[in-house]
Amino acid sequence: MAASSRYPATVREVAAALVARYADFDHYNLKDPLDELLFIMCSTKTAETSYRATFDQLKAAFPTPRDLAEAPAEYIARPLVAGGLSGTKSRAIRALLDALVVHFGAPTLEPLRDMNDRDAEAFLTALPNVGNKVARCVLLYALGRQVFPVDTHCWRIACRLGWVRPTQKDGRCVPRDADRLQAKIPPELRFSLHVNLISLGREICTARNPNCAACPITLWCRRIGVAARPARRTASSRDEMGTASDPLMD
Ligand code: SF4
Repeated sequence: MAASSRYPATVREVAAALVARYADFDHYNLKDPLDELLFIMCSTKTAETSYRATFDQLKAAFPTPRDLAEAPAEYIARPLVAGGLSGTKSRAIRALLDALVVHFGAPTLEPLRDMNDRDAEAFLTALPNVGNKVARCVLLYALGRQVFPVDTHCWRIACRLGWVRPTQKDGRCVPRDADRLQAKIPPELRFSLHVNLISLGREICTARNPNCAACPITLWCRRIGVAARPARRTASSRDEMGTASDPLMD
């Protein structure tokens, strides 16, 4: 059996359709793992246009990790004000840097490069305010690891596609669900699917009123939890997409 055959063909077809539409769009993530983690912290509950500027201001105020590590939280908060939640974000950054200095003797995440995926993720998720999704973003974007961060767009679309069922009554994604979804994505497609599902979620498959008529992956979508079906879908096309016994469903 070829190694790739353990993954359903549907995932590859969806990935190809999304590449054709979005071409692995660059979401402005960074190649230095500490910068990437700080960038994500700056983005919490903040619009994209604002958090990119906020991160740039943070870097301008504190050009090196050591500069940032020596600054009190109230100083770190100043360049974060425009993005909102500056007090919360500055305290989280302060706690992160303290933990890194305690562990590595310096404000750095470079030692992650010598860890395997499992150890690196375990280290990151043990840091204050770092969860499964953020850890995998650092691993994926900055360290080139083949992991699949499940952000709100990826989770919402995977559920609508019928790739995964939530285990929680309120439908939120818990780490166990994120692991189940990641296991269904071929490693070599994880980066591409992650960035392109974000683009799809922002442009078309929005939380409210997804524009299914304009969607490049409607052919493969069961539209679970979406109220109305598009007119062009037929009973035969639904049959082609399979039933609950599909290998994607669990
Ligand atoms: S067909 Fe509709 S529900 Fe399915 S992924 Fe596209 S926009 Fe989302």
